[in-house]
Amino acid sequence: VYSNVVVGCDTRTSSPAMKHALISGLLAAGSGCCDDGVIPTPTLAFAAREFDAGAMITASHNPPEYNGIKLLNRDGSAFDYQQRKQIEEAVLDDSSSAAPWHEIKAGNIHNEAIEQHVERILHDFPTGIKLKVVVDSGCGATYMITPYLLTKLGCEVLALNCYPSGFFPHDIEPTEANLVDLIKATREFGADLGIAHDGDGDRMMVVDDRGRFVPGDKLLAIFAQEVGTKEIVTTIDASMAIDEMGFKVIRTKVGDTYVSEKLKKSGEFGGEPSGSWVFPKISLCPDGIYAAAQVVAIASRQKLSPLVDSLPHYPLLRGSISSEGIVMSKLEQRLMAMNPLLVSNIDGIKLNFEDGWLLIRASGTEPKIRITAEAKSETRLHHLYDNSLRIIKDCREGEIN
Ligand code: MG
Repeated sequence: VYSNVVVGCDTRTSSPAMKHALISGLLAAGSGCCDDGVIPTPTLAFAAREFDAGAMITASHNPPEYNGIKLLNRDGSAFDYQQRKQIEEAVLDDSSSAAPWHEIKAGNIHNEAIEQHVERILHDFPTGIKLKVVVDSGCGATYMITPYLLTKLGCEVLALNCYPSGFFPHDIEPTEANLVDLIKATREFGADLGIAHDGDGDRMMVVDDRGRFVPGDKLLAIFAQEVGTKEIVTTIDASMAIDEMGFKVIRTKVGDTYVSEKLKKSGEFGGEPSGSWVFPKISLCPDGIYAAAQVVAIASRQKLSPLVDSLPHYPLLRGSISSEGIVMSKLEQRLMAMNPLLVSNIDGIKLNFEDGWLLIRASGTEPKIRITAEAKSETRLHHLYDNSLRIIKDCREGEIN
């Protein structure tokens, strides 16, 4: 029973309507409820420590016409499988009932969540950082907090797409292809770095002082070094360069919730190369805002570009293909015929070779098969990738081979 729930939403046009519907349901069921307005997911997660649960209306990095609900525990972790199943069952069997009239609560409005989150983050970092930073919020939920936080740290902030229009000026997932304007602005303004978030601010990606997009695998190593941990919790699709740097790497299924679930038991840092960074000392929710302050603090001591260049790097490819008609048993059999040194089944099938690896897995959100490959040379990378693509196509129903 969640008797007091804190609710927030992102900037999407459908978010206020969905938030009010959710609040209405919570109050009708007899729960207490606090409306925190438009805030990022990690900010709501931080506020949730004073409630029984948090509910965030957002579709994260997905297109503006999508929306959904993220449910969070007091420690910032997402609801696990059991909790989600319970809620799903209650919705489907219509078993939840309205509270008697004398037990219905009024609900509250809370406006301090952003201030409290910023205060907590400032506690961990020095102020007086004289850096020039471009922030691209993509008109998402971080439009206010990240420029505000970085200004408090002492930075000169150039705000790009920092207004809550509900219409994203570019695809809101912080990938290199989507951050053309941020890259351009970082170069043109001669900024020390650029920062981008996804729609709800649990992700953060970086552009260095030379205007180059920093791969997430490198940020993973940079953050772990900064935190001072020898152990990194990350997903099965993260680069093998991290293992080579001497970290103890604990790998989970793809998805930041699996990283948090592991960190719930132990560990000081974890993340996903797509831009989710979890610092358990603040919350088990990936915190793109905290990560932004962390990367700014690093950049205040050393230029980012030489730091990025000092880390090992291997060519890596991520792609996908429609999963329609794919016979999985046949696919597995064909992949095994590639003679890998080692096979892992943590998520999909991962084939490890002496000079690279290949991960083939069904997407959790779309009817697609995701392919990730990394190798010590470009030639070997394309060999691995093209081979897997050909094998997958061969395994479509009705295909003769
Ligand atoms: Mg997100």
